[in-house]
Amino acid sequence: MLLILLIAIISSIFVFVKNNSGENEIPYTLFLMHLENGLVEEAYLDESAKIKIILDNSNEFVTDNPRTEGFKELLLMHDVNVIEKSQISNQIMPLIILAALVFGLFYFRKNISKQAEKEMSSMSSIESGEYNTQIGFKDVAGNEEAKASLEEIIDFIKNPKIYKEFGVRLPRGVLLYGSPGTGKTLLAKAVAGEANVPFYPVNGSDFVQVYAGLGASRIRDLFKKAKEAGKSVIFIDEIDCIGKKRKSSSVSGSEEGDRTLNALLAEMSGFKENEGIVIVAATNRIDVLDEALLRPGRFDRQIEVELPDINARYEILKLHSKNKPLNNEVDLRKLASETMYFSGSKLENLLNEAAMIAIKLRAKEITNEHMNKAYYKVLVGDEKLDRTYINKKDKEITAYHEAGHALIAKLIDKTNRVTKVSIIPSTKGVGGFSLNIPVDKMYKTKKDLLSNIMIALGGRAAEEIVFGKDNITTGASSDLEKATDIALSLIGTLGMDDDFGLINLSVLMSKDIREDKNIVMRTKDTLDELYCQTVITLKNSRDLLEKIAQELLLNETIDENDINRIINTFEAVS
Ligand code: ADP
Ligand code: ZN
Repeated sequence: MLLILLIAIISSIFVFVKNNSGENEIPYTLFLMHLENGLVEEAYLDESAKIKIILDNSNEFVTDNPRTEGFKELLLMHDVNVIEKSQISNQIMPLIILAALVFGLFYFRKNISKQAEKEMSSMSSIESGEYNTQIGFKDVAGNEEAKASLEEIIDFIKNPKIYKEFGVRLPRGVLLYGSPGTGKTLLAKAVAGEANVPFYPVNGSDFVQVYAGLGASRIRDLFKKAKEAGKSVIFIDEIDCIGKKRKSSSVSGSEEGDRTLNALLAEMSGFKENEGIVIVAATNRIDVLDEALLRPGRFDRQIEVELPDINARYEILKLHSKNKPLNNEVDLRKLASETMYFSGSKLENLLNEAAMIAIKLRAKEITNEHMNKAYYKVLVGDEKLDRTYINKKDKEITAYHEAGHALIAKLIDKTNRVTKVSIIPSTKGVGGFSLNIPVDKMYKTKKDLLSNIMIALGGRAAEEIVFGKDNITTGASSDLEKATDIALSLIGTLGMDDDFGLINLSVLMSKDIREDKNIVMRTKDTLDELYCQTVITLKNSRDLLEKIAQELLLNETIDENDINRIINTFEAVS
């Protein structure tokens, strides 16, 4: 009886899940168009009413299943990877699930103890400690402010007694925060290396445990070991895993997390200041951390580790190319100027990719060509090797779209830099890109923000001018996201809009005062107005737009010199 009941319950769950898969559905005709254009990567074929398909850009959709005889052949002829689901009927399926459940339950206990074993054994890795005398500040390029701030900590580890004598209370904990790949781990290692003390690296996620109390006991073990070693650097990466804001109303899950965090706080207040132990923690998100962690005596020194600026990028590129055979033509200064928003780790990756490409081609040295290929790979993923599938029309649309972005940037302000425009599609589904580099300055003006919105709208505007209102494409979706985001902050939080004045709407929101309707309308009007301006600007320079797009169609990628040349020849003529 129980069994039958179970089966009934499970099968109803099964049907429910099946009908609510929440996938995007597209019309069959659109699917056929995708198929024609070679955009369909995989299709899951069975006898149900809808089939699942996966596009080249890994987007998933469902569409109607025609259930015709030749359908599979049609798919195969378009190079689609057809996956046929085995024909398990809905009646047998629940039974299989039930069997799996019973087995799952059976193994569950076994696995728990395995998990615990694993946790116990990884604990011993904490105990070993790591000597890192080789890594020092010489291995960290840029990050000057962070290094200066850490110098003091190193001196404290070396001479804790002096600090004690002068009654200086030094931070016990240092929190490094900033984007991933900016060198936080590297800096922590360098601190241990410079101070010549053992380095104990752990990860916040190591303390998130299945067994109650294990996280907390691991914290205590860690500190015990460090104390026994004397001077040392403990490094807790991803501290946000254990240091999230505590909830007052504890549910069982977070209670365990709180216990771990409390253990950490207790240990940190527990050890004496002159021991020469420093805890360095790292996070990408300081805003989610529990305030208790940031109080004096805990992680009271907070150092931002920022994305490198142009000079730092140059230094990092120099450092990581030291051991690589670079051809003289590779200009690291130029490369540094073209790699805005790259983290140190991305820059390192760029050089590494270039070296791999050179090796693959059995070249003697890394040349500009290899660098360019690597640059593209790091930025947008592998170039699509087979470009034949993109039909001529799509290529044209991309060319005008990207030319629109680039031209608006240049027309608004000559000093705007557009370092690279490309219509080479990538495997990640990016059709092309126009890379404009904003002038490096501390504050952005209202004019800058308005210009950025217009640059973002330039792609769609060009499409409309060239192909007509009815033929605008989905290619502008991320542009519109960006434009809306800028417009919304300009009006709602930055106090730059005449109508809305100086009010900051996020304050209102936090007090639950709703103001959304007006701001939505105002944002829309602003965008509409700027879009109009963008269209007019492009229309007035239609010849230039044409020329840039044609050059893109011819060469696929053009750089700053090309764009300037095109604009200058036009100005000379007119
Ligand atoms: P994070 O901990 O901030 O995520 P990492 O310290 O793990 O970043 O950095 C990953 C790699 O990137 C480093 O091992 C190094 O090769 C490179 N890197 C990052 N920042 C720098 C830098 N400032 N100088 C030199 N190399 C860097
Ligand atoms: Zn665009």
